[in-house]
Amino acid sequence: MSRSAISPNALKVLYRLKSAGYQAHLVGGGVRDLLLGREPKDFDVATDASPEQVREVFRNCRLVGRRFRLAHVQFGREIIEVATFRAGQDQTEDQHQTDEGRVLRDNIYGTIEEDALRRDFSVNALYYNIEDFSIIDYVGGVEDLNQGVLRLLGDPETRYREDPVRMLRAIRFAAKLGFRIAEDTESPIAELSSLLADVPPARLFEETLKLFLAGTAAGTFEKLRQYGLFGQLFPDTEHSLERLDHEFPLTLVLKGLENTDNRIREDKPVTPAFLFAVLLWEPVRQRAEALQSDDVPMFQAIQRAGGEIVSRQVARVAIPRRFSTPMQEIWTLQTRFNQTRGKRPTRLLAHPRFRAAYDFLLLRASAGEADSELAAWWTDFQQGNASTPPASEEGEGGRRRPRRGRRRRRKPASVAEE
Ligand code: ATP
Ligand code: MG
Repeated sequence: MSRSAISPNALKVLYRLKSAGYQAHLVGGGVRDLLLGREPKDFDVATDASPEQVREVFRNCRLVGRRFRLAHVQFGREIIEVATFRAGQDQTEDQHQTDEGRVLRDNIYGTIEEDALRRDFSVNALYYNIEDFSIIDYVGGVEDLNQGVLRLLGDPETRYREDPVRMLRAIRFAAKLGFRIAEDTESPIAELSSLLADVPPARLFEETLKLFLAGTAAGTFEKLRQYGLFGQLFPDTEHSLERLDHEFPLTLVLKGLENTDNRIREDKPVTPAFLFAVLLWEPVRQRAEALQSDDVPMFQAIQRAGGEIVSRQVARVAIPRRFSTPMQEIWTLQTRFNQTRGKRPTRLLAHPRFRAAYDFLLLRASAGEADSELAAWWTDFQQGNASTPPASEEGEGGRRRPRRGRRRRRKPASVAEE
Protein backbone atom coordinates (compact mmCIF):
# COMPACT_ATOMS: atom_id res chain seq x y z
CA MET A 1 0.00 0.00 0.00
CA SER A 2 1.38 3.36 -0.97
CA ARG A 3 1.68 5.75 1.93
CA SER A 4 1.93 8.70 -0.38
CA ALA A 5 -1.75 8.18 -1.19
CA ILE A 6 -2.68 8.94 2.41
CA SER A 7 -3.67 12.51 3.08
CA PRO A 8 -0.83 14.36 4.88
CA ASN A 9 -3.42 15.73 7.29
CA ALA A 10 -4.60 12.25 8.21
CA LEU A 11 -0.97 11.28 8.85
CA LYS A 12 -0.55 14.36 11.02
CA VAL A 13 -3.56 13.34 13.13
CA LEU A 14 -2.27 9.79 13.46
CA TYR A 15 1.24 10.88 14.52
CA ARG A 16 0.03 13.50 16.96
CA LEU A 17 -2.31 11.06 18.71
CA LYS A 18 0.45 8.47 18.88
CA SER A 19 2.94 10.86 20.39
CA ALA A 20 0.32 11.86 22.97
CA GLY A 21 0.31 8.21 24.00
CA TYR A 22 -2.86 6.97 22.32
CA GLN A 23 -3.62 4.25 19.79
CA ALA A 24 -4.64 5.68 16.45
CA HIS A 25 -5.30 3.95 13.15
CA LEU A 26 -6.72 4.73 9.79
CA VAL A 27 -9.95 2.75 9.32
CA GLY A 28 -12.91 2.08 7.09
CA GLY A 29 -13.38 3.07 3.48
CA GLY A 30 -10.04 4.87 3.33
CA VAL A 31 -8.06 1.74 4.14
CA ARG A 32 -10.25 -0.39 1.88
CA ASP A 33 -9.82 1.94 -1.08
CA LEU A 34 -6.05 2.32 -0.55
CA LEU A 35 -5.63 -1.47 -0.53
CA LEU A 36 -7.64 -1.67 -3.74
CA GLY A 37 -5.47 1.00 -5.34
CA ARG A 38 -8.40 3.42 -5.51
CA GLU A 39 -8.41 7.00 -4.41
CA PRO A 40 -10.13 7.25 -1.02
CA LYS A 41 -12.96 9.78 -0.67
CA ASP A 42 -12.01 10.62 2.88
CA PHE A 43 -9.89 9.37 5.75
CA ASP A 44 -11.32 8.24 9.06
CA VAL A 45 -9.26 7.69 12.17
CA ALA A 46 -10.13 5.38 15.06
CA THR A 47 -8.52 5.84 18.45
CA ASP A 48 -8.71 4.81 22.09
CA ALA A 49 -8.64 8.48 23.13
CA SER A 50 -12.03 9.83 24.19
CA PRO A 51 -13.45 12.72 22.13
CA GLU A 52 -12.49 15.11 24.93
CA GLN A 53 -8.95 13.77 24.94
CA VAL A 54 -8.77 14.19 21.17
CA ARG A 55 -9.83 17.80 21.58
CA GLU A 56 -7.00 18.38 24.03
CA VAL A 57 -4.50 17.23 21.42
CA PHE A 58 -5.79 19.44 18.58
CA ARG A 59 -6.65 23.08 18.64
CA ASN A 60 -8.43 22.81 15.29
CA CYS A 61 -10.94 20.30 16.64
CA ARG A 62 -14.72 20.30 17.08
CA LEU A 63 -16.86 17.67 18.74
CA VAL A 64 -19.94 16.74 16.76
CA GLY A 65 -22.81 14.29 17.13
CA ARG A 66 -25.29 14.06 19.94
CA ARG A 67 -25.61 10.46 20.94
CA PHE A 68 -22.22 9.41 19.80
CA ARG A 69 -19.59 12.09 19.77
CA LEU A 70 -16.97 12.32 17.08
CA ALA A 71 -14.04 14.67 16.81
CA HIS A 72 -13.62 16.61 13.60
CA VAL A 73 -10.10 17.87 13.09
CA GLN A 74 -10.14 20.61 10.52
CA PHE A 75 -7.33 21.51 8.11
CA GLY A 76 -8.56 24.17 5.74
CA ARG A 77 -11.23 22.42 3.72
CA GLU A 78 -10.28 18.92 4.78
CA ILE A 79 -11.85 17.34 7.83
CA ILE A 80 -10.34 14.26 9.41
CA GLU A 81 -12.97 12.42 11.40
CA VAL A 82 -11.66 10.87 14.58
CA ALA A 83 -13.88 8.31 16.33
CA THR A 84 -13.25 6.63 19.64
CA PHE A 85 -13.34 2.80 19.53
CA ARG A 86 -16.91 1.71 20.16
CA ALA A 87 -18.38 -1.52 21.41
CA GLY A 88 -21.79 -3.05 20.90
CA GLN A 89 -23.93 -3.51 17.87
CA ASP A 90 -26.44 -0.79 17.77
CA GLN A 91 -24.27 2.18 17.11
CA THR A 92 -25.36 4.03 14.03
CA GLU A 93 -25.48 7.76 14.35
CA ASP A 94 -29.12 8.60 13.84
CA GLN A 95 -30.84 5.60 15.24
CA HIS A 96 -33.95 6.58 17.12
CA GLN A 97 -33.16 5.81 20.68
CA THR A 98 -33.66 8.17 23.52
CA ASP A 99 -30.61 10.21 24.19
CA GLU A 100 -29.66 9.08 27.63
CA GLY A 101 -26.65 11.31 27.54
CA ARG A 102 -23.75 10.46 29.76
CA VAL A 103 -24.81 7.05 31.04
CA LEU A 104 -25.10 5.70 27.54
CA ARG A 105 -21.99 7.47 26.44
CA ASP A 106 -19.78 6.12 29.18
CA ASN A 107 -20.29 2.49 28.37
CA ILE A 108 -20.46 2.86 24.63
CA TYR A 109 -16.71 2.86 24.11
CA GLY A 110 -14.75 -0.32 23.68
CA THR A 111 -11.59 -1.97 22.48
CA ILE A 112 -10.28 -1.92 18.93
CA GLU A 113 -11.48 -5.48 18.44
CA GLU A 114 -15.00 -4.57 19.53
CA ASP A 115 -14.78 -1.56 17.27
CA ALA A 116 -13.98 -3.86 14.34
CA LEU A 117 -16.93 -6.14 15.06
CA ARG A 118 -19.54 -3.36 15.17
CA ARG A 119 -18.64 -2.23 11.64
CA ASP A 120 -20.70 -3.35 8.68
CA PHE A 121 -18.62 -5.30 6.15
CA SER A 122 -15.36 -7.13 6.75
CA VAL A 123 -13.62 -5.02 4.08
CA ASN A 124 -14.70 -1.90 6.00
CA ALA A 125 -13.25 -3.15 9.28
CA LEU A 126 -9.54 -2.97 8.48
CA TYR A 127 -7.12 -0.75 10.41
CA TYR A 128 -3.89 0.64 9.09
CA ASN A 129 -1.18 0.97 11.69
CA ILE A 130 1.29 3.72 10.74
CA GLU A 131 3.80 2.55 13.34
CA ASP A 132 4.82 -0.56 11.43
CA PHE A 133 2.79 -0.02 8.23
CA SER A 134 0.74 -3.13 8.96
CA ILE A 135 -2.92 -3.92 8.48
CA ILE A 136 -4.83 -5.01 11.57
CA ASP A 137 -7.51 -7.49 10.57
CA TYR A 138 -9.78 -9.11 13.15
CA VAL A 139 -12.46 -10.22 10.72
CA GLY A 140 -10.89 -11.78 7.63
CA GLY A 141 -11.31 -8.54 5.72
CA VAL A 142 -8.06 -8.84 3.78
CA GLU A 143 -9.07 -12.22 2.46
CA ASP A 144 -12.50 -10.88 1.43
CA LEU A 145 -10.86 -7.88 -0.20
CA ASN A 146 -8.64 -10.17 -2.25
CA GLN A 147 -11.63 -12.30 -3.22
CA GLY A 148 -13.80 -9.30 -4.02
CA VAL A 149 -16.49 -10.27 -1.52
CA LEU A 150 -18.75 -8.12 0.62
CA ARG A 151 -19.48 -9.93 3.83
CA LEU A 152 -21.56 -8.50 6.63
CA LEU A 153 -20.04 -9.14 10.06
CA GLY A 154 -22.08 -11.18 12.51
CA ASP A 155 -25.51 -12.58 11.76
CA PRO A 156 -26.72 -10.77 8.61
CA GLU A 157 -30.40 -10.72 9.48
CA THR A 158 -29.67 -9.26 12.94
CA ARG A 159 -27.34 -6.67 11.44
CA TYR A 160 -29.94 -5.61 8.84
CA ARG A 161 -32.60 -5.33 11.51
CA GLU A 162 -30.31 -3.17 13.63
CA ASP A 163 -29.78 -0.86 10.69
CA PRO A 164 -31.65 -1.50 7.42
CA VAL A 165 -29.47 1.05 5.61
CA ARG A 166 -26.82 -1.67 5.56
CA MET A 167 -28.84 -3.28 2.74
CA LEU A 168 -28.36 -0.14 0.65
CA ARG A 169 -24.69 -0.01 1.60
CA ALA A 170 -24.26 -3.61 0.40
CA ILE A 171 -25.62 -2.66 -3.02
CA ARG A 172 -23.64 0.58 -3.12
CA PHE A 173 -20.31 -1.07 -2.39
CA ALA A 174 -21.04 -4.03 -4.67
CA ALA A 175 -21.67 -1.64 -7.57
CA LYS A 176 -18.85 0.74 -6.74
CA LEU A 177 -16.17 -1.87 -6.11
CA GLY A 178 -17.45 -4.50 -8.52
CA PHE A 179 -17.63 -6.97 -5.60
CA ARG A 180 -20.04 -9.82 -5.21
CA ILE A 181 -22.19 -10.03 -2.11
CA ALA A 182 -21.55 -13.14 -0.01
CA GLU A 183 -24.47 -15.53 -0.11
CA ASP A 184 -25.56 -15.22 3.51
CA THR A 185 -25.20 -11.44 3.28
CA GLU A 186 -27.28 -11.38 0.12
CA SER A 187 -30.07 -13.82 0.87
CA PRO A 188 -32.00 -11.94 3.59
CA ILE A 189 -32.22 -8.69 1.59
CA ALA A 190 -35.30 -9.36 -0.53
CA GLU A 191 -37.30 -10.38 2.52
CA LEU A 192 -36.11 -7.55 4.76
CA SER A 193 -36.24 -4.74 2.19
CA SER A 194 -39.45 -3.31 3.67
CA LEU A 195 -37.54 -2.48 6.88
CA LEU A 196 -36.32 0.59 5.03
CA ALA A 197 -39.74 2.08 5.70
CA ASP A 198 -38.61 2.63 9.31
CA VAL A 199 -35.53 4.63 8.38
CA PRO A 200 -35.90 8.40 8.73
CA PRO A 201 -36.48 9.99 5.27
CA ALA A 202 -33.68 12.51 5.85
CA ARG A 203 -31.15 9.71 6.25
CA LEU A 204 -32.50 8.00 3.14
CA PHE A 205 -31.99 11.22 1.22
CA GLU A 206 -28.31 11.21 2.18
CA GLU A 207 -28.02 7.55 1.23
CA THR A 208 -29.78 8.12 -2.08
CA LEU A 209 -27.24 10.77 -3.02
CA LYS A 210 -24.42 8.38 -2.15
CA LEU A 211 -26.07 5.67 -4.23
CA PHE A 212 -26.60 7.78 -7.32
CA LEU A 213 -23.84 10.36 -7.25
CA ALA A 214 -20.83 8.10 -6.85
CA GLY A 215 -20.17 7.46 -10.54
CA THR A 216 -21.87 4.08 -10.78
CA ALA A 217 -25.51 5.11 -10.70
CA ALA A 218 -26.69 3.00 -13.63
CA GLY A 219 -25.32 -0.26 -12.20
CA THR A 220 -26.52 0.65 -8.74
CA PHE A 221 -30.03 1.30 -10.03
CA GLU A 222 -30.22 -2.10 -11.71
CA LYS A 223 -28.95 -3.87 -8.60
CA LEU A 224 -31.36 -1.98 -6.34
CA ARG A 225 -34.24 -3.10 -8.54
CA GLN A 226 -32.95 -6.65 -8.63
CA TYR A 227 -33.02 -6.82 -4.82
CA GLY A 228 -36.39 -5.10 -4.45
CA LEU A 229 -34.81 -2.09 -2.77
CA PHE A 230 -35.46 0.54 -5.41
CA GLY A 231 -39.20 0.30 -4.83
CA GLN A 232 -38.62 1.01 -1.15
CA LEU A 233 -36.94 4.29 -2.01
CA PHE A 234 -39.06 5.27 -5.03
CA PRO A 235 -42.37 3.41 -4.79
CA ASP A 236 -44.18 5.47 -7.43
CA THR A 237 -41.32 5.14 -9.89
CA GLU A 238 -41.02 1.41 -9.39
CA HIS A 239 -44.74 1.07 -9.89
CA SER A 240 -44.73 3.11 -13.07
CA LEU A 241 -41.74 1.21 -14.47
CA GLU A 242 -43.51 -2.07 -13.86
CA ARG A 243 -46.19 -1.03 -16.34
CA LEU A 244 -44.82 -2.83 -19.31
CA ASP A 245 -46.54 -0.88 -22.08
CA HIS A 246 -43.42 1.05 -23.13
CA GLU A 247 -39.65 0.76 -23.10
CA PHE A 248 -38.85 4.44 -22.99
CA PRO A 249 -39.41 5.13 -19.26
CA LEU A 250 -36.73 2.63 -18.27
CA THR A 251 -34.50 3.84 -21.10
CA LEU A 252 -34.88 7.40 -19.86
CA VAL A 253 -33.84 6.51 -16.32
CA LEU A 254 -30.88 4.43 -17.49
CA LYS A 255 -29.66 7.07 -19.93
CA GLY A 256 -30.15 9.77 -17.33
CA LEU A 257 -28.08 7.83 -14.81
CA GLU A 258 -25.41 7.07 -17.41
CA ASN A 259 -25.19 10.78 -18.19
CA THR A 260 -24.75 11.46 -14.49
CA ASP A 261 -21.99 8.86 -14.29
CA ASN A 262 -20.24 10.38 -17.31
CA ARG A 263 -20.42 13.85 -15.85
CA ILE A 264 -18.89 12.65 -12.61
CA ARG A 265 -16.13 10.90 -14.52
CA GLU A 266 -15.45 14.16 -16.37
CA ASP A 267 -15.53 16.17 -13.13
CA LYS A 268 -18.55 18.15 -14.27
CA PRO A 269 -21.07 19.31 -11.72
CA VAL A 270 -24.16 17.21 -11.09
CA THR A 271 -27.21 18.47 -9.28
CA PRO A 272 -29.54 16.37 -7.15
CA ALA A 273 -32.42 18.35 -8.71
CA PHE A 274 -31.71 16.84 -12.13
CA LEU A 275 -31.10 13.39 -10.68
CA PHE A 276 -34.46 13.35 -8.88
CA ALA A 277 -36.14 14.88 -11.95
CA VAL A 278 -34.94 11.82 -13.89
CA LEU A 279 -35.93 9.31 -11.23
CA LEU A 280 -39.43 10.69 -10.70
CA TRP A 281 -40.34 11.75 -14.23
CA GLU A 282 -42.26 8.65 -15.28
CA PRO A 283 -44.81 8.71 -12.44
CA VAL A 284 -45.20 12.45 -12.98
CA ARG A 285 -45.66 11.96 -16.72
CA GLN A 286 -48.21 9.20 -16.25
CA ARG A 287 -50.16 11.20 -13.70
CA ALA A 288 -50.06 14.30 -15.91
CA GLU A 289 -51.32 12.24 -18.82
CA ALA A 290 -54.29 11.11 -16.78
CA LEU A 291 -55.03 14.69 -15.76
CA GLN A 292 -54.77 15.82 -19.36
CA SER A 293 -57.29 13.28 -20.48
CA ASP A 294 -59.58 14.96 -17.96
CA ASP A 295 -58.97 18.16 -19.92
CA VAL A 296 -56.46 19.74 -17.56
CA PRO A 297 -54.09 21.80 -19.77
CA MET A 298 -50.59 20.40 -20.10
CA PHE A 299 -48.70 22.92 -17.97
CA GLN A 300 -51.15 22.67 -15.08
CA ALA A 301 -51.27 18.90 -15.44
CA ILE A 302 -47.49 18.60 -15.04
CA GLN A 303 -47.47 21.09 -12.21
CA ARG A 304 -50.17 19.26 -10.30
CA ALA A 305 -48.80 15.81 -11.03
CA GLY A 306 -45.34 16.99 -9.92
CA GLY A 307 -46.75 18.33 -6.67
CA GLU A 308 -48.59 15.10 -5.91
CA ILE A 309 -45.65 12.83 -6.67
CA VAL A 310 -43.22 14.99 -4.70
CA SER A 311 -45.41 15.13 -1.63
CA ARG A 312 -45.65 11.34 -1.61
CA GLN A 313 -41.96 10.91 -2.35
CA VAL A 314 -40.69 13.10 0.50
CA ALA A 315 -42.39 10.82 2.99
CA ARG A 316 -39.84 8.19 1.89
CA VAL A 317 -36.81 10.13 0.79
CA ALA A 318 -36.81 13.68 2.12
CA ILE A 319 -35.77 15.81 -0.84
CA PRO A 320 -35.00 19.30 0.50
CA ARG A 321 -36.84 22.19 -1.12
CA ARG A 322 -33.68 23.64 -2.55
CA PHE A 323 -33.67 20.61 -4.85
CA SER A 324 -37.37 19.82 -5.23
CA THR A 325 -38.26 23.34 -6.39
CA PRO A 326 -35.80 23.41 -9.31
CA MET A 327 -36.75 19.81 -10.07
CA GLN A 328 -40.38 20.79 -10.52
CA GLU A 329 -39.31 23.68 -12.73
CA ILE A 330 -37.39 21.27 -14.94
CA TRP A 331 -40.63 19.34 -15.38
CA THR A 332 -42.98 22.24 -16.02
CA LEU A 333 -40.54 23.88 -18.44
CA GLN A 334 -40.85 20.83 -20.67
CA THR A 335 -44.21 22.18 -21.81
CA ARG A 336 -42.61 25.48 -22.83
CA PHE A 337 -40.36 23.87 -25.38
CA ASN A 338 -43.35 23.42 -27.64
CA GLN A 339 -43.56 27.15 -28.09
CA THR A 340 -41.06 27.87 -30.80
CA ARG A 341 -42.54 31.01 -32.36
CA GLY A 342 -42.34 34.69 -31.59
CA LYS A 343 -40.46 35.99 -28.58
CA ARG A 344 -41.18 33.04 -26.34
CA PRO A 345 -38.11 30.96 -27.16
CA THR A 346 -35.80 33.90 -26.42
CA ARG A 347 -37.54 34.45 -23.11
CA LEU A 348 -37.23 30.78 -22.22
CA LEU A 349 -33.50 30.90 -22.95
CA ALA A 350 -33.12 33.47 -20.17
CA HIS A 351 -34.89 31.30 -17.62
CA PRO A 352 -32.47 30.32 -14.81
CA ARG A 353 -33.50 26.70 -15.20
CA PHE A 354 -33.30 26.67 -19.00
CA ARG A 355 -30.07 24.70 -19.21
CA ALA A 356 -31.21 21.90 -16.93
CA ALA A 357 -34.63 21.77 -18.60
CA TYR A 358 -33.02 21.65 -22.05
CA ASP A 359 -30.72 18.81 -20.95
CA PHE A 360 -33.83 17.06 -19.71
CA LEU A 361 -35.53 17.56 -23.08
CA LEU A 362 -32.50 16.04 -24.82
CA LEU A 363 -32.70 13.08 -22.46
CA ARG A 364 -36.40 12.60 -23.19
CA ALA A 365 -35.71 12.80 -26.90
CA SER A 366 -32.85 10.30 -26.70
CA ALA A 367 -35.13 7.89 -24.86
CA GLY A 368 -37.74 8.25 -27.59
CA GLU A 369 -40.27 10.02 -25.42
CA ALA A 370 -39.93 13.56 -26.79
CA ASP A 371 -39.68 14.72 -30.39
CA SER A 372 -36.03 14.65 -31.43
CA GLU A 373 -36.66 17.28 -34.15
CA LEU A 374 -37.89 19.62 -31.48
CA ALA A 375 -34.83 18.92 -29.34
CA ALA A 376 -32.59 19.57 -32.36
CA TRP A 377 -34.42 22.83 -33.02
CA TRP A 378 -33.61 24.02 -29.51
CA THR A 379 -29.99 23.02 -29.92
CA ASP A 380 -29.80 25.16 -33.08
CA PHE A 381 -31.73 27.99 -31.54
CA GLN A 382 -29.38 28.23 -28.60
CA GLN A 383 -26.40 28.38 -30.89
CA GLY A 384 -27.99 31.37 -32.56
CA ASN A 385 -29.15 29.50 -35.64
CA ALA A 386 -32.81 30.40 -35.58
CA SER A 387 -34.14 27.90 -38.05
CA THR A 388 -37.74 27.50 -39.04
CA PRO A 389 -39.69 25.98 -36.23
CA PRO A 390 -40.35 22.27 -36.59
CA ALA A 391 -43.66 21.39 -38.13
CA SER A 392 -45.55 21.40 -34.90
CA GLU A 393 -48.45 23.37 -33.64
CA GLU A 394 -47.81 26.34 -31.44
CA GLY A 395 -49.00 25.93 -27.90
CA GLU A 396 -49.25 23.32 -25.27
CA GLY A 397 -48.76 19.75 -26.24
CA GLY A 398 -48.90 20.68 -29.88
CA ARG A 399 -45.55 19.42 -30.98
CA ARG A 400 -47.03 16.29 -32.40
CA ARG A 401 -49.44 16.97 -35.16
CA PRO A 402 -52.84 16.33 -33.69
CA ARG A 403 -54.24 13.11 -34.96
CA ARG A 404 -57.47 11.53 -34.10
CA GLY A 405 -58.94 12.05 -30.69
CA ARG A 406 -58.73 14.96 -28.39
CA ARG A 407 -56.64 17.93 -29.26
CA ARG A 408 -54.24 17.96 -26.35
CA ARG A 409 -53.84 14.31 -25.87
CA ARG A 410 -50.34 13.01 -26.40
CA LYS A 411 -49.88 9.34 -27.00
CA PRO A 412 -46.40 8.28 -25.96
CA ALA A 413 -46.91 4.93 -27.66
CA SER A 414 -46.78 6.57 -31.06
CA VAL A 415 -43.69 8.48 -30.04
CA ALA A 416 -41.93 5.36 -28.88
CA GLU A 417 -42.75 3.47 -32.05
CA GLU A 418 -41.13 5.98 -34.32
P1 ATP B 1 -17.27 5.66 1.40
O1 ATP B 1 -16.27 5.35 0.37
O2 ATP B 1 -18.63 5.73 0.86
O3 ATP B 1 -16.92 6.79 2.32
P2 ATP B 1 -16.97 4.12 3.80
O4 ATP B 1 -16.78 2.65 4.00
O5 ATP B 1 -15.89 5.02 4.26
O6 ATP B 1 -17.30 4.31 2.28
P3 ATP B 1 -18.66 5.64 5.53
O7 ATP B 1 -20.13 5.82 5.46
O8 ATP B 1 -17.76 6.79 5.31
O9 ATP B 1 -18.32 4.47 4.50
O10 ATP B 1 -18.36 4.97 6.94
C1 ATP B 1 -17.06 4.78 7.44
C2 ATP B 1 -16.96 3.44 8.16
O11 ATP B 1 -17.87 3.39 9.26
C3 ATP B 1 -17.32 2.24 7.30
O12 ATP B 1 -16.23 1.79 6.54
C4 ATP B 1 -17.75 1.23 8.34
O13 ATP B 1 -16.63 0.63 8.96
C5 ATP B 1 -18.44 2.10 9.38
N1 ATP B 1 -19.90 2.21 9.12
C6 ATP B 1 -20.52 3.19 8.41
N2 ATP B 1 -21.84 2.99 8.37
C7 ATP B 1 -22.09 1.88 9.08
C8 ATP B 1 -23.26 1.15 9.41
N3 ATP B 1 -24.48 1.55 8.98
N4 ATP B 1 -23.13 0.05 10.17
C9 ATP B 1 -21.92 -0.35 10.60
N5 ATP B 1 -20.78 0.27 10.32
C10 ATP B 1 -20.85 1.38 9.56
MG1 MG C 1 -15.91 7.17 4.22
